[in-house]
Amino acid sequence: MARFPHGVLVVGGGIAGATLALALARRGVPVRLIERDAGWRPVSAGMFLYANGLAALDRIGVLGEVVAAGWASPDGRNPYLTPDGTLITEVSYPRIGGDHVPPILGILRAELHRVLARAMAAAGVPVLLGRAVEAVEDAAPGPVVARLSDGTRLDGDVLIGADGIRSALRGLLFPGVAPEFTGFGVWRSMHDRPASLDAKVMMMGVGKRLGIMPIGDGRLYVFATSREPGNPWYERDVWHHRMRATFAEFRGPAARFLDELSDPAQVVYTPVEEVRLPLPWHRGRVGLIGDAAHASTPFMGQGGAMAIEDAVVLAEMLAERGPGEAVLAGFGERRHARCALVQDTSRRVGEAGGLEDEAACAARDARLRESGQATVDGFYARMAEAI
Ligand SMILES: Cc1cc2nc3c(=O)[nH]c(=O)nc-3n(C[C@H](O)[C@H](O)[C@H](O)COP(=O)(O)OP(=O)(O)OC[C@H]3O[C@@H](n4cnc5c(N)ncnc54)[C@H](O)[C@@H]3O)c2cc1C
Repeated sequence: MARFPHGVLVVGGGIAGATLALALARRGVPVRLIERDAGWRPVSAGMFLYANGLAALDRIGVLGEVVAAGWASPDGRNPYLTPDGTLITEVSYPRIGGDHVPPILGILRAELHRVLARAMAAAGVPVLLGRAVEAVEDAAPGPVVARLSDGTRLDGDVLIGADGIRSALRGLLFPGVAPEFTGFGVWRSMHDRPASLDAKVMMMGVGKRLGIMPIGDGRLYVFATSREPGNPWYERDVWHHRMRATFAEFRGPAARFLDELSDPAQVVYTPVEEVRLPLPWHRGRVGLIGDAAHASTPFMGQGGAMAIEDAVVLAEMLAERGPGEAVLAGFGERRHARCALVQDTSRRVGEAGGLEDEAACAARDARLRESGQATVDGFYARMAEAI
């Protein structure tokens, strides 16, 4: 393509980078993907994608395969329960982008990744594994140059850092910005799904909350958040004990899954961090997308959807306008407010789930009963706006 003599360099083959590379390739823009992990293995955990992220995947033609690889909620139903399993209320998440787009999809990260990687291979995207970008030179009118850990030099018209929450690219562009611990930890485990469990379930406790989500192939995952003041370090071999003990009061549908935890390999523990990077999200012809630019707390399950939306929007802008600093500046302007809305809302959801005072929790549950659906509708009306 004459407008892209060198092509686009994408650093990081996670959700944002893989989606961007695929979206560019499908629009005929030459692109190369550089991924640090030689095995290219995402964390083995479940995740959910809401309709806005799924609608963005639809725009690049992979929605059908992604849906087939996960568990699509037919009606977006989400009961909220107390820790003993008593119903507080039930809300339902809307569809966005048409009847063929499910309201929520639960999926194993590795499955989402498999679909994106296969589609990228079919589109002929070169993927350089086991190499990290160590330095970038951006001296116009020459190309942007990436120097890789194995000594390779790559030239590009533009370079996009999609290298996640600990982005090395962000470190090069904006050295003062680092992930900040938010005071919470997330515990995740995977289990066989009983047929009766056919909706996303949230359980609201005191200082903690726990969710259950089917992910397809007869499996589900449990994700549970706790306050973790001081960001304590837990050795891997005690993760299953700690998850069982921390959430011991959660019974009802959660009991059997917590009781099943007998091996540390069943559990992933992650301290919750956030990245707040003000605009610009670029310097010259080097830009950031996904968690590298705006990692969110995971309390709304929207970080992956924001990464996918970023990738789809940036690919469309690059394909339409060609490479250049102005496109990266325009991209940041277009995406910043929406990503900040998700970050702010997610922080509030996390704080509500972490209330430690019984009376405040009772008031929260009463609010959920009175206005939970209206809150969901209000937020998803914003998510349904054009991206
Ligand atoms: C506990 C938890 C639960 C979550 N649950 C959900 C959920 O249910 N739904 C949802 O939508 N979101 C969820 N999120 C958020 C979601 O995981 C992230 O927003 C998403 O993974 C961001 O994608 P990314 O591509 O920007 O980063 P990542 O997915 O982290 O990918 C970054 C990639 O870059 C590679 N890389 C790193 N450094 C380099 C380098 N120097 N050179 C080359 N490659 C490099 C890494 O190996 C990796 O492959 C959750 C987050 C957490 C922490």
